[in-house]
This record gives sequence, structure tokens and C-alpha cells, in this order.
Amino acid sequence: MAFNRHDPHMRLAIWESYARKCPYCTRLVGYEDFQIDHVIPNAISRKPARYAALAQSIPLQSDFDPQGLENAILSCRSCNLRKSGDPQEDGDLRYTLKRAREMMPRILATHAALLEKIQPPPNPADFPASSTKIGEKS
Ligand SMILES: [Zn+2]
Repeated sequence: MAFNRHDPHMRLAIWESYARKCPYCTRLVGYEDFQIDHVIPNAISRKPARYAALAQSIPLQSDFDPQGLENAILSCRSCNLRKSGDPQEDGDLRYTLKRAREMMPRILATHAALLEKIQPPPNPADFPASSTKIGEKS
């Protein structure tokens, strides 16, 4: 499931879900300093043959989206730079992908809660029964 990595509420949800810590080095990372890392780098997912070989060796689930949350993990700048375009070893990659997938429900719930805070749901008291007689014969 692709997501908008420039959505500030999604960025905040990811940062909070990882308890503001880089999962690679476990250091606290500031909101201005964290990055959303592609676990499988774009350099690989954009090369069909290379991606197909990797997808088979991990193996990746058939619905895996390289632009989705299942391929996104919080990272501090230095860990992301160190990794750059190189994939992790298969074993580490499997672990990181598992971690990203496990974090998805928390990120989505945090994101939904943030949106709810900004746009509270309608209050039933604002819609008295007298105004909601839809479908009733008068
Ligand atoms: Zn780090």
C-alpha cells in the first residue's frame, strides 16, 4: 500500500511509532533529522530483473509494494547514508522488512488518531433528531 511520505501527519506517525529512535542504531533522532528509508532501495526495486531475483530469495509477499509502508523504516541520517544504495544482507533484510511490517498497524493507527485530532468527528448533538427524518413520510 503506497503512502505519501511527504504527508507531515504520516511523518509524525512514523516518528512516534518508532518511539523517536532510529531502529538501526537505537539512538534518539529529532523530528527534523529522521528520514524515511526504503528498506529495499529504489536503486533495486527500479531494476525489474534484480528486484525479481531479490523478491524470490527473501521471499517477498505477492502484494509487497516497494513504495508502501511495508518497505519503509525510520532511519537517522548517518544510518541511511551508510546504507545508501546497497541492500542489506538477505538475513538482515528479512529482519528489517519484518520489523517494518509489524510496525504498520501502529503507524496507521497513530496516523488516524492524528487526523481525528485535527478533524474531530461530527458531534451527534449538532444534528437533532428533528432534522434527520430522512426517508420518513410527512
Ligand atoms: Zn541510526
